Amino acid sequence: MPVANGRSYLAIPGPSVTPEAVIRAMSRASPNIYTGELHEITDTIIPDLKYVAGTNGDVGIYITNGHGMWEAALANSVSRGDKVLVLACGRFGIGWSAAAQTLGLDVQIEDFGQESVVDPERTREILAADKEGAIKAVLICHVDTSTSAKSDVAAIRRAIDAAGHDALFLVDCIASLGCDRFEMDNWGVDIMISASQKGLMAPAGVGLIWLNDKAKAARARLNDVSPYWDWALRINPAEFYQYFDGTAPTHHLYALRAALDLIKAEGMEAIWDRHETLVRAIWAAVDAWGQGGAMKLNMKNPSERSHAVTSIYLGGEDGDRLRDWCETMCGVTLGIGLGRTPPSAYFRIGHMGHVNAHGILGVLGVIDAGLKALSIPHGDGALAAAATVISKAR
Ligand SMILES: *Cc1c(COP(=O)(O)O)cnc(C)c1O
Repeated sequence: MPVANGRSYLAIPGPSVTPEAVIRAMSRASPNIYTGELHEITDTIIPDLKYVAGTNGDVGIYITNGHGMWEAALANSVSRGDKVLVLACGRFGIGWSAAAQTLGLDVQIEDFGQESVVDPERTREILAADKEGAIKAVLICHVDTSTSAKSDVAAIRRAIDAAGHDALFLVDCIASLGCDRFEMDNWGVDIMISASQKGLMAPAGVGLIWLNDKAKAARARLNDVSPYWDWALRINPAEFYQYFDGTAPTHHLYALRAALDLIKAEGMEAIWDRHETLVRAIWAAVDAWGQGGAMKLNMKNPSERSHAVTSIYLGGEDGDRLRDWCETMCGVTLGIGLGRTPPSAYFRIGHMGHVNAHGILGVLGVIDAGLKALSIPHGDGALAAAATVISKAR
């Protein structure tokens, strides 16, 4: 008989676990959209979003998901026919490049594969070879959620500078924001995009963009920008609150306000620290399981692993079998082996936002039970190894 009754647990890399405070904030009738509380709330959301991203630049809010933000970032920075360089290390980098191609951009993809991060030196070489400055923008995913590869954003900025190249630097932080350390201004990022449903702990449906003066200057040079994606109105509060380019995402704004209250109360440094301790517990468990079986972390080098999501190889069909068992028997939903061949050989653990020690130890305990129930060969001591990591938290 299943032992799943009770509260289920969503351990996928977005949407993430929703805090009770966020759920409560949305439990209300639609507010007045013309004036009053909704406008006041939006006013306070903007500076808090800047704090989360580490920027003094502008912020725009859209009603969309991460795929929409891929388009928003490109619509405001480059024109049809312009060349862009996509530095990919997984399904999401490839996805952004496909969107760019469909928008009529001339896309150069440098694919670093599914077990590596973006190589800054290779980036420098490509840009240094572009003597005429044909490349207008460089696109990366800070974390590629399919592989859990985390690239070194600051090092890639230094590579662009070392090549003496003027391209805009666009970063997708949809998976990483609010989980992995990110400092937009210090790291020299021109445009950053994210979405509400991962580290920001709100439901899916709001897309966010952060941009600096260089990005604004690029936008000013464009002849036409698709009206829905144009950020000009969205970063201008006076226009935006009144019109929102359509109805405001009312309940999402209440949700974001509640989530940002949690984020501010904890502080970014503590949030990054918590994610790091928890992911180290996961790594320790996987290493122990791997001692007696095929299981291994997709990313070998700890400094190249995300703290928001972990991709794990298991082999054969075992990733899918394990996911099915964990869900039906124990009420824990794990992430699919998105973009991998075969997908069934992999699974992912999402650990973004509203995650803590008992949640993660619970997920690891259920995986351990699943490995035993399905007779998937594995090493002993995974839970003890994870608990030892947690015990050293300060
Ligand atoms: C989740 C994700 C996306 C896509 O976001 P959607 O809201 O699912 O469209 C894009 N890039 C990265 C890195 C992601 O993690």
